[in-house]
Amino acid sequence: MSVRFFHIAGKKQETARNALSHSCRALASSIQHNTWALPTSLLITGASQLLTLRGRGPRRGAALANLGIIRNGALLVRDGWITAVGTRPEIEALPEAAAAEKLDLGGRVVLPGFVDSHTHLIHAASRAEEYELKIAGASYEEIARKGGGILNSVKKLRAATSEALKQRARRALTQFAGYGTTTIEAKSGYGLDVMSELKILRLHKELAAEQPLDIVSTFLGAHVVPAEYRGSSAGVNSYMALLTQKLIPEVAEEKLAEFNDVFCDRGAFTREQAQQILEAGRGEGLVPRLHAEQLTHTGATQLAVKLGAASCDHLEKINASDIAALAKSQTVATLLPGCDFHLGLQKYAPARKLIDAGCIVALATDYNPGTSPTMSMPMILSLACSQLRMTPAEAITSATINGAYALRREKGLGSLGVGKLADLAVFEVADYREIPYYFGMNTCWLTMKRGVVVHAADKAKT
Ligand SMILES: [Zn+2]
Repeated sequence: MSVRFFHIAGKKQETARNALSHSCRALASSIQHNTWALPTSLLITGASQLLTLRGRGPRRGAALANLGIIRNGALLVRDGWITAVGTRPEIEALPEAAAAEKLDLGGRVVLPGFVDSHTHLIHAASRAEEYELKIAGASYEEIARKGGGILNSVKKLRAATSEALKQRARRALTQFAGYGTTTIEAKSGYGLDVMSELKILRLHKELAAEQPLDIVSTFLGAHVVPAEYRGSSAGVNSYMALLTQKLIPEVAEEKLAEFNDVFCDRGAFTREQAQQILEAGRGEGLVPRLHAEQLTHTGATQLAVKLGAASCDHLEKINASDIAALAKSQTVATLLPGCDFHLGLQKYAPARKLIDAGCIVALATDYNPGTSPTMSMPMILSLACSQLRMTPAEAITSATINGAYALRREKGLGSLGVGKLADLAVFEVADYREIPYYFGMNTCWLTMKRGVVVHAADKAKT
């Protein structure tokens, strides 16, 4: 069979006819094939707009709007990697194209698979029970004081089995793929004790090995201080010691994470504590990143710049001198408008100021049960356009190449060029601007990871 299909919810990758799900079978049968062996080369044609995002990443300022569009575009893929990109006549003229398996996308829009650089993938359950309180006007912090919030998720996670957590995460990964996402970052942070934090990070590793999406693991033991350490400064200090002297060294030793994150805000960790935790991680080879300036202004952005953090995320309360410092740095400003939308807050991060100042802006879902229960990057693009006043082109760049840069993966991910992974999202639209324009709808028609189809919409059956 020509095009491989991967069942995310199932076992390891299967490659023959039997592996094709019912929803994908007709799609596959419409594709020419003449061998049961794995295809070495795949010719993809029929992209009315092929958004290559070619050029050097990351993008700042005016370059954010440059999508590198090829009309009537085509790609040649070998063993999961892109070997040629151009117009259909150019690519079809290549000697390798003649023998390649064929996939015609029928005039749809193609872009790099989304790189979602901020998620809290592993959690035990939704927090729908808090939703009405939020709607009635209770603040995030008031809900936390009533026993809700992050500590509510911690309680649920500690009680959950690894298998139950994994099942839930697998379903989420299927949905991520369904919206065109091919790489996600995943944070721990709902365990907050040694056993539970390691359990989450080990699940990242297991899930990365058994399903096709890339999962980039981040340690977030410094999400909040867990209940059993609260109420005294001695308690907080002993949790700090647990993080810096036990958990971080263990995470690094077992290679369970690449990044170390801290929620630096009122009710979580101070700037000084964040610095201590991030420096401890850096000493063990974990790259810093930060939840910064979400609920209050803490100076976390300046700390992120000072420490050379990969990203600082949220930034609703960022000020002018923070923006100036970020613009001069390589630290990515990751915006998470799903949070403000879900919490009903009017104060979105100042994306235009960040872009105009020359910051590297990324967009992510912040998929989590408390503040942003969505896996839909297209919905995030809609929010970025309507609420952050980003253009569709700026939003797409922020969700692809700049997201990849935030995860230090820009060499292989986030754009479509020779030597990049064949990670594609194909949308059932006539123009890329329609992706955010149709808000709350999923127009993703097909998702490909490393040259393998991981999502095919029902429409593909016909
Ligand atoms: Zn977060």
